[in-house]
Amino acid sequence: MSSKDLENKRIQLVHYLKKSDAINSALIEKAFLKVKRELFMPSNLIEYAYSDNAFPIGFNQTISQPYTIAVMLGLLNAREGMKVLEVGSGSGYVCALLSEIVGPKGKVYGIELVEGLFEQAKENLKLQGCNNAELFFGDGTKGLSERMPFERILVSAACGFVPEPLIEQLSEGGRIVAPVGDHWSQQLQLAEKTEGKISKSFPLPGYFVFVPLKRT
Ligand code: SAH
Repeated sequence: MSSKDLENKRIQLVHYLKKSDAINSALIEKAFLKVKRELFMPSNLIEYAYSDNAFPIGFNQTISQPYTIAVMLGLLNAREGMKVLEVGSGSGYVCALLSEIVGPKGKVYGIELVEGLFEQAKENLKLQGCNNAELFFGDGTKGLSERMPFERILVSAACGFVPEPLIEQLSEGGRIVAPVGDHWSQQLQLAEKTEGKISKSFPLPGYFVFVPLKRT
């Protein structure tokens, strides 16, 4: 498949995500148009890069579905210049989207528990030309204390509740978006910090299925 074919498919996917209200801002639309999902897919699946599905990326993990990512990014509402953490950076695709959203004055940190994925994602981000995203290998349930605080935190794996260190490492006025529920289904939880207090809500009716957030 030529790069022109892939580009056309990328544009089509963005149209679909806008029509279905998953993409709700120009900043998020621009990011989806800029980031080449094919760079984050296993080489044998490149032709499916713009199919709106999750795909295996090895180590029993998946690259998230574009629809789900768009909805999460909408709730997260990251803006230019912000410092953002993604827990469970996997292939690096979501970090690349966030890196476009926050722009050159912002910074994205990704943390991943599987070393092979962490190494692969570093390569993927280089190919995409992301230079404001930095990846760490480790357990993201503990957050990333050496780079705290974060204005936005995105948890990309299913959890029963948002781990306490993430709440501690969130800036005043900051937001966390996380898939919260049991093993089989989760809803997107939005946690906001105001005057040191956390308020949590499930703003959307839909359910999702994420791979589990592991605790070490
Ligand atoms: N957003 C990524 C992948 C999400 S899949 C993408 O689109 O490619 C969720 C990822 O969370 C997996 O790569 C898994 O290895 C990772 N993960 C699970 N538990 C974790 C933990 N405690 N700390 C960091 N990463 C974790």
